[in-house]
Formats: sequence, C-alpha cells, structure tokens
Amino acid sequence: MSGNLQELSIGVVGAGTMGKGILQTLAQAGFKVQLYDTSQDAVMQAIEFSACMIDRAAAKGRISADQAWKVKAGMKPAKQLEDLASADIVIEAIFEDVGVKHALLAKLDTILAPDAIIASNTSSLSITAIAAGSAHPKRVAGLHFFNPVPLMKVVEVIRAVDTTDEVMETLRQLVLAFGHTPIVTGDSPGFVVNHAGRGLYTEGLRIVQEGVSDTASIDLILRESAGFRMGPFELLDMTGLDVSYPVMRKIYEQFWHEPRFRPSPLPALQVEAGYFGRKTGRGFYSYPDGKIAYPPKAALPAIEADMPEKIWLDNSDYSDASFMADLRPLLGDVVDNGEEPSSSSICLVAPFGLDVSQCALGRGLDPARTLAIDPLFSPDKHLTLMTSPATSRLFRDATLILFDKHNLNVTSIHDSPGFVAQRVIASIINIACDIAQQNIASPTDIDLAVTLGLGYPKGPLSWGDELGAKTVLDILDAIFTRTGDPRYRASLWLRRRAELGLSLLAEEN
Ligand code: NAD
Repeated sequence: MSGNLQELSIGVVGAGTMGKGILQTLAQAGFKVQLYDTSQDAVMQAIEFSACMIDRAAAKGRISADQAWKVKAGMKPAKQLEDLASADIVIEAIFEDVGVKHALLAKLDTILAPDAIIASNTSSLSITAIAAGSAHPKRVAGLHFFNPVPLMKVVEVIRAVDTTDEVMETLRQLVLAFGHTPIVTGDSPGFVVNHAGRGLYTEGLRIVQEGVSDTASIDLILRESAGFRMGPFELLDMTGLDVSYPVMRKIYEQFWHEPRFRPSPLPALQVEAGYFGRKTGRGFYSYPDGKIAYPPKAALPAIEADMPEKIWLDNSDYSDASFMADLRPLLGDVVDNGEEPSSSSICLVAPFGLDVSQCALGRGLDPARTLAIDPLFSPDKHLTLMTSPATSRLFRDATLILFDKHNLNVTSIHDSPGFVAQRVIASIINIACDIAQQNIASPTDIDLAVTLGLGYPKGPLSWGDELGAKTVLDILDAIFTRTGDPRYRASLWLRRRAELGLSLLAEEN
C-alpha cells in the first residue's frame, strides 16, 4: 500500500445511490477512484452524474476548469472486478445482503494485494459478520457513509472483531482527507448514528400511544421549544416508514429487546395501510400537491362569564424556581401573588419528571384548578401546558386565554410525567450516555455523530451538561418511578456523573 494517503488508489464496488456519492466525494478530494458494478450502465451513469456535478461546481467558480478536468480524469470505470487488482482500499456499496457481500469479499481476496483494505458501507449488517466472508478478516472494517454523501459530512469508521489498528487509522485518515468527519465506533447495532437516533422516534411514538398528545403537537413542541429542525413524525414521513420501520424493528431485535428501543404498534398499522409518508402522499401527515398539510391550529376557547382571572405560580419543591421567576413578569397583572392560591385562582406547577396529578396531590392543591407547565426551556419559547384527568375544562380554557392574552404560545397536552420535551430529550441523552457506557464510541464522537449525522440542535452529552446532568437524572428517575417502565431506567454513565457533579463528556482516566 502507498505510504502517501493522497496517492492511494481506491476501488468502489456498487454504483447505486451510495456508490455514486462515494465516487464523487473521493474524486473531488483528488483521489483516483475506479468504479465497478455488475451493471455497466450503472457505472457509466454514476460517472456521468459525478462529472456533471463537477462541471457544475466549475461553472459556479467553486473549482477551476483545470481542477475539474483532473477530478474527472481521476474517475475510471472498471469493466470487471479484476480491474481493481491494484486498489489499496476497496469500498463496497452493493446490495444489503450478507450472502452477496460474502461472495464479493471471497472474490476480492483472490484479486487484491494482501495488505489492501476492504471497507463495507452496510447500514444494518454487522461488520464482523461481513468480514467472516473474507479469508483475511483483519483487513475488513466498516465505512458507513450517509446519503447524500457529498453533503452529509460524517462517516462512521467501524471496527469489527478482528480489524487491525492500522486499518482503522488508515480509514480514519482517509475520511479526514476527503473533508468529512470520521466517527470511530465499535461493531454495534446501528453503530452510533442510528443507535443514538432511537430516542426521538420511540419516545415520540410512545407519547402518542399513551394518548398524551398528537403527532402534530409533538412535532411543534420539539421544533419550537427544543430547536429540532423537524419533529419525529415529520422526519419519519420524510424518510418513509418502508425504510425506518424495519430499522426500528431490527435495532430492537439486535439489542435483545432492550426496552429503550421498544417500537410502537402505530407505524406497523401505517405500513400495513401503505401510508409510508411523503413518498406515498400520506403518512403521519397528508401531502396534497407534495406539500405537508398541518392540521389547522385549534381555535382559542370562548370567554365565559365565570372564568378565573388569576394564575397562582407554585414556589415549592414541585416547581422549578428559576423558570417561575422568568414566567412571572411575562404574565404580569394576572399573577396571584399570595403565599397560597386564593380560592378562585388557577394553580400552576412547573415540575421535572412528575405529572400534574402527582403535583396537585403532593402539594395539597385543588386538582380541578391545577395545571402544569414544562420548565425545561425558557418561557419566551413555545410552552407546554398539561392537565390532569381532574382539571376542570373551565380552568384549562381560562389558562389558554390568559396565556394568549400575554402573547405566550402554548400547546395543551394530557397528563404525563415529563411532558413531551423532557421525555424525548431525557431519552435521547440517556441513550447517548449508554452508548458511552458501552464504549461504542467516545463522548466527543457521540456528540459529533448526532449533530452531523442526525442534524439535532446539540450533541446529546453537551445538551445534558447544559440542562444539568442532575436534572436529566431526576426526570428519568421520576418517570421510571411513576411508570415502572424499564425504558426510563437511567444509564449508569449518567447516574455516576450526575452524582459526582461531572460533565457527561468526562471519560475515566
Ligand atoms: P442501490 O440498490 O442503490 O445500489 C446497489 C448497487 O450494487 C446496484 O447498482 C447493483 O447493481 C450493485 N451490485 C449488487 N450486487 C453487486 C455485486 N455483487 N457486485 C457489484 N455490484 C453489485 O443500493 P444503495 O442504496 O446504494 O446501498 C448500498 C449499500 O449502502 C447497502 O449496503 C446499504 O445498506 C448501504 N447504505 C445505504 C444508504 C442509503 O441511504 N441508500 C445509506 C447508508 C448505507
């Protein structure tokens, strides 16, 4: 193998969606790439497509005409697999079938030099299982690109049971050389990105299943308060349930029914009905003319004669003091400033991890007059208001009207320990902590994988630090105590660091 990284000769096998993107990305970074596919048409189309993209970049002045020419000259079609004999690294992006991949690796063993590397772009198979198809499993690793490859600037570099350090380091350097960010991970179901992505979907679905809220409200809350670009249901519709539902099932099965990844029955029904999402014109949303149709915003309740006009803000241990201090001036003259609520005031609590029923009973408030507000994010963001089965309709409607009067945007949900945002974000952080605990990837790489691979507003471990590891732990412990569901048991990575007052990014010495 050539010692100079830039002089490495690279073979790509498979000229479909991924192979095409890998070819373009590597060629643009100045590598010599040969592309092979059992379909020569696919090879020629992929090379033409990449050449077109490169010409477009030159036309826009992003690269010079000379550079464009060199890049295009670096892409070569291979007529047969044997043409890859001099490749230092072969990246396979063929059908997702272990038998097909084994047959390819066995053939590559007879063609390639003994020190050549074979990297698989599989998204759901184990790299170790694929490597077993080679007589030299030490040279096999994973190189998991994301679609579209030129734009998704992250690549998982996956170590199988036998992969050598040298192979891992060469692949890591290669990824850096073509300008992407390498995430070094162990050979674990979903690697890092698809593993870390479970929390948003499974928790969102669980909240709907429990009747706490509806899909559009959950998406709205997570977009407007937590800063996600899309909520779980918008994302599921965009990817298509034909793709995401099998991944949900597979990761749950591969982790031997880990409760944190337990899928919901809801997407199964949609799959059976053929409602995959945007691509079929209907999923969790409908898509008339190809555009997402959100349900109309619920009208504000009508003002009634005997409506309460004051809101009392709890200042006990059941509520977050700093959130209430920020909310108080925003509500202005409607705040009941008494030590205890007057007999006609709405009672508002702001708990972490508790539901309204618990708060009303524990704090000794009238359940018919009590509502909760989510204190996770500052009150100038979109707010979530929660009622218990005992909350009177009149008190709920009055609260909505009073909040609206003060220009505070709010979505009303039913009783749930942890509202929507606390449940979803604590689940995401907890799963990321457990990825760190299992030593699948480093804390820094976990955060990078999630921001670059999933586009979340923050890396989950940094997000946990920002919210406070103790707060996240309290949320999970309270939900676990209330529900008895082991999906909410806190990862020991989180528990230890929260108890010791350490950052969630802190590794052991
Ligand atoms: P694709 O169906 O678009 O392309 C696969 C190509 O492989 C086809 O052109 C086919 O002719 C070729 N092929 C099949 N068997 C071959 C063989 N034995 N030798 C040579 N060529 C062969 O598939 P894709 O979406 O590009 O996926 C390829 C791989 O990348 C799969 O392992 C998949 O899991 C993984 N992956 C896909 C995505 C994605 O978003 N599509 C993302 C990450 C990883």
